[in-house]
Amino acid sequence: MKPVIALVGRPNVGKSTLFNRLTRSRDALVADLPGLTRDRHYGEGRIGERPFLVIDTGGFEPVAKDGIMHEMAKQTKQAVAEADLVIFIVDGRQGLTPHDKTITDFLRKSGRSVMLVVNKSEGMKYTSVTADFYELGLGDPYVISAAHGDGVTDLVEESLDLA
Ligand code: GDP
Ligand code: MG
Repeated sequence: MKPVIALVGRPNVGKSTLFNRLTRSRDALVADLPGLTRDRHYGEGRIGERPFLVIDTGGFEPVAKDGIMHEMAKQTKQAVAEADLVIFIVDGRQGLTPHDKTITDFLRKSGRSVMLVVNKSEGMKYTSVTADFYELGLGDPYVISAAHGDGVTDLVEESLDLA
């Protein structure tokens, strides 16, 4: 069985960009419009000899009670339930938001292994880009740039060791 990795986080943090890099596909829609990728989306990736499945999600807006954002949250929950490991992506340029904390609570309750990943960190110092996020209690964050590819291979290798 290939390990299943779910990409979770608020809209616009770079989940689909990472998905595309991992699967080398253009299938997941990347857009500036937050929340455009509304469906769970599966792809296959490979690092060296190690294959894995990755699920892109539309983004998790914990406050949504109905409508499209609620539907996206439901699908994200389903993706987490199916995953061996969750890559929880936050935005290093925006810093910590209240929604990141709510997502953290949800992930903690899910009982899944979670890796906290600070995206959009190209050109930024590790200490400054991560400082905010220790508060989430998920340990040392990984820093990546999904757009440029920095840190992505290391991240996946470590995540496959955990999955
Ligand atoms: P999603 O909603 O979480 O799937 O986010 P997307 O992958 O659609 O990306 C949202 C926006 O962030 C797009 O404009 C991306 O080009 C941009 N983005 C994604 N990754 C990076 C990154 O590593 N650095 C920077 N600067 N921008 C990024
Ligand atoms: Mg997306």
